[in-house]
Amino acid sequence: MSLLHQIPPVVASGLPRNDWTREEVRALFALPFPALIFRAAQVHRDNFDPSEVQISTLLSIKTGGCPEDCAYCPQSAKFETGVKAEKLMDLEAVLAEARAAKAGGASRFCMGAAWRSPKDRDLEKVCDMVEGVKALGLETCVTLGMLTSEQAKRLKTCGLDYYNHNLDTSPEFYGEIITTRTYQDRLDTLEHVRAAGINVCCGGIIGMGEKPDDRVGMIATLASLPVHPESVPINMLVRVEGTPLAERATIDPLDFVRTIAVARITMPASMVRLSAGREDMSEETQALCFLAGANSIFYGPKLLTTPNPGRDRDMALLDKLGLRAMD
Ligand code: SF4
Repeated sequence: MSLLHQIPPVVASGLPRNDWTREEVRALFALPFPALIFRAAQVHRDNFDPSEVQISTLLSIKTGGCPEDCAYCPQSAKFETGVKAEKLMDLEAVLAEARAAKAGGASRFCMGAAWRSPKDRDLEKVCDMVEGVKALGLETCVTLGMLTSEQAKRLKTCGLDYYNHNLDTSPEFYGEIITTRTYQDRLDTLEHVRAAGINVCCGGIIGMGEKPDDRVGMIATLASLPVHPESVPINMLVRVEGTPLAERATIDPLDFVRTIAVARITMPASMVRLSAGREDMSEETQALCFLAGANSIFYGPKLLTTPNPGRDRDMALLDKLGLRAMD
């Protein structure tokens, strides 16, 4: 029997499977690289136009001073990274950024605030931003930390399209990265967002010192959520000076590509986003990620506080690869 015949089905009764076992996910990671990429590319083609890439822009609407201790994050108040705590941006300044993102080709505008969880009075200000950005004809996404079910419902009533809340890594490795909130806290927020009827954006970070089996655990957890996240951002660690992960060893880019491919196969109908870390990625690695089923990127010179390739460089790369922005 050929290796491709050993790959488990990706749908059950016409729907993406959400009963992926760790053994199955581990077996995908263990496939020969060409077989894995070939299968991921097939799944990509079965579900999307592979020449289209969805483009999102991410703006930090409230930077720094976060009380959480996520070991990769320059915005945590617990680390000396040179990122200063700022106030929540004004509505007009946010809308000006959203107009510029739209003019640059973005279809989704994501707004991130460095909070443990939003205060209700701040949530109202974010709701004004969501309404204003939507009125420009952009999809909206926010990431504000943990949410109660009431806060999720409030965001739904103001028209929010997506809420981002990452699982970051496997349940087993999580405690090495964050101690100020639990894995279950994250799952609870995801449940509140889903129950409110908001699309879920949820993924993780590769290269934080996790073992290969932690990548298996992360993907298996994401792919066995009751409903797959509509967007799955896969980040490569950006090693920021002053954070506890600043000296972590770089990972083999092919291991990153494998993670993208396994995310594509196990969550066939989700947008798999090639997120942080592209600044340090070669064009060849990014091209392999697109081949492996990544179909979304963050676009713009900054991702919250860390650098991202400039717009011209990204457009030149998409052009070179014959890819175009999804409407
Ligand atoms: S990742 Fe988010 S919650 Fe964690 S420290 Fe950074 S801003 Fe705070």
